[in-house]
Amino acid sequence: MAKKRRFVRLSLADLAKEPTWSETPRSTSGRHRKTPGTVNAAGQFSDPHGLELRLITRDVTGAVAQRLVDAGALVVVEECGCGAGPGGCTPWWLDDDQLRKLRGGAAPWVTGRNQAPTWIDQWGNDDHVVVFAHGEVCWGGVL
Ligand SMILES: [Zn+2]
Repeated sequence: MAKKRRFVRLSLADLAKEPTWSETPRSTSGRHRKTPGTVNAAGQFSDPHGLELRLITRDVTGAVAQRLVDAGALVVVEECGCGAGPGGCTPWWLDDDQLRKLRGGAAPWVTGRNQAPTWIDQWGNDDHVVVFAHGEVCWGGVL
């Protein structure tokens, strides 16, 4: 005898009460898990408080990066030039002391020592402006 299947018919009003995907535990677990300050497998990059960041400008000049830091931007670094996307290395964030050393100093420059892909992006959210240094960036004795 075939197994009886039970179908549940939901009205549109009932469906509207169901949680959306982003409200389910799956949206923040597994490859969608958000680890503060890193990029998750879904490609979402978050600040150290776990708030998602948006790419504002790809490939800013050293002078622009320096102006952003002078104005209080945070700095995050990945030194191999992988871009720190899904499967990439784990980026690290400069602490307050390191940021103080950069403010008002010389603009970052590219060392090109090991020919790693090197560039600087500007990211941001409502709370922070973030300078993301990729590859071989030399900056104020900190990087
Ligand atoms: Zn990397």
